[in-house]
Amino acid sequence: MECSTNDAKKKTFVQTVQEVAARLAAELYDRVAQEPRTLTEMEGEATQVMWQLGEALLQALCELWVPPYPEPEIRCTCGETAQYVRRRSGQMKTQLGIVRLRRPYYLCEHCGQGRYPVDEALGFCAGSISAGLDGLLAYVGSLLPFDEAAALLEQLRGLSVSSGRIRRSTETLGQRVQVQEAQAVEQAWAQGHPPPATAPLPPSQPLYISMDGVSVLLRQQGGREQKLGAVYTTKAKPARQRPDQLEIRAEQMSFYTEMAEATTFGRGLWLEAQRRGMGQAEQVVVIGDGAHWIWRLAEEHFPDAIQILDWYHASSYIWKAAHAIYGEDSDLSKPWAEHRLDQLWEGKLDPLLRELQSHASHQAVREAISYFQNNRSRMDYPRYRKMGLQIGSGVIESGCKHVIAHRLRQAGMRWTEEGAQAVAKLRARLKSGRWEETVALIPPPRRSYHRSAA
Ligand SMILES: [Zn+2]
Repeated sequence: MECSTNDAKKKTFVQTVQEVAARLAAELYDRVAQEPRTLTEMEGEATQVMWQLGEALLQALCELWVPPYPEPEIRCTCGETAQYVRRRSGQMKTQLGIVRLRRPYYLCEHCGQGRYPVDEALGFCAGSISAGLDGLLAYVGSLLPFDEAAALLEQLRGLSVSSGRIRRSTETLGQRVQVQEAQAVEQAWAQGHPPPATAPLPPSQPLYISMDGVSVLLRQQGGREQKLGAVYTTKAKPARQRPDQLEIRAEQMSFYTEMAEATTFGRGLWLEAQRRGMGQAEQVVVIGDGAHWIWRLAEEHFPDAIQILDWYHASSYIWKAAHAIYGEDSDLSKPWAEHRLDQLWEGKLDPLLRELQSHASHQAVREAISYFQNNRSRMDYPRYRKMGLQIGSGVIESGCKHVIAHRLRQAGMRWTEEGAQAVAKLRARLKSGRWEETVALIPPPRRSYHRSAA
């Protein structure tokens, strides 16, 4: 019985699609196939037909679930009975275009609630956009400025969506991520322990944690720091330039971001490190540029980590000192700086500091002295090298560019705080390879109906 019903449904579906395909093919033939055309012309026309066929396919699929003979009554959620009223039309925008359905409408006289069983079964919601389209809009909106994202969709998918709609989808999903992350932090703190790791570490790999911040321009408020944390592992590979030498490259990077003070950011980053398997790591390493808040968070959340001062920041203080002492164009500054860099590389900090002290009349030299004194315990570069550890913060610096700056610091951009935070959150997920689970946070659109028509 069921089988024959299914067969009949299938036949109807195939027939409907065939009819549409045949009509579209005939129209396409009339437009471009009668006379010689260029490939480019035919390519454009055939693409449009593909989009129309896609829309028809989804339409036909959805119609399979609209009953030809509606039940006269259904059970209402209040426990009473809702009566069939009539079919009502509704349309919804999807990734493939518009779906229009005439589906049975029921009204419960008892509680006044109106219901569309088809909507509830399909996740159809008249006047709304599908969760699939919502996710696609958030994706392009996190990649590109909203107006460019709208143009891209038109070009690639033949979809006409306003930049405002893309902004809304993007910001809403970003806010969902934010809420989910805040709840996870709250829960971990309340329970006193983190949830189990979901991305286990490769065995005997140190886990690296690195942090920095980028200034994002807010409307009427000026710049605000968007903090970014990276969690990653490394792998030693033959260097590209010199294959006889090993190069330590970062792998499996994930990012966490927050436009907030260090305390809130620190908790979220700690949770991200836990998700990545910090609990099983034989060694945790924190690399930073010397900013005070970074080491404060390292002490608080990663107390057993080896702290390493980024090699390039340390070197830059030596170059600035050399230029202050000898002048930028002097032939003397380079050999002096190179000698100091060798000392730094070899961990000979006492002679390095003595040499700097002898030039302490220069402001830049005094800054270098205090920077090195403050970070002395984080500059044991010979030891780090021996352990095969990375000593540069390139991962977080390039992260600041590709996760945050490329989207949030374009010329003329001014953000609301919520908007910046939402887009940054989405980009951190995207760049961590976590888009699928992020887009799954979008619930099917729903609406409740109360006594209106009869
Ligand atoms: Zn009811």
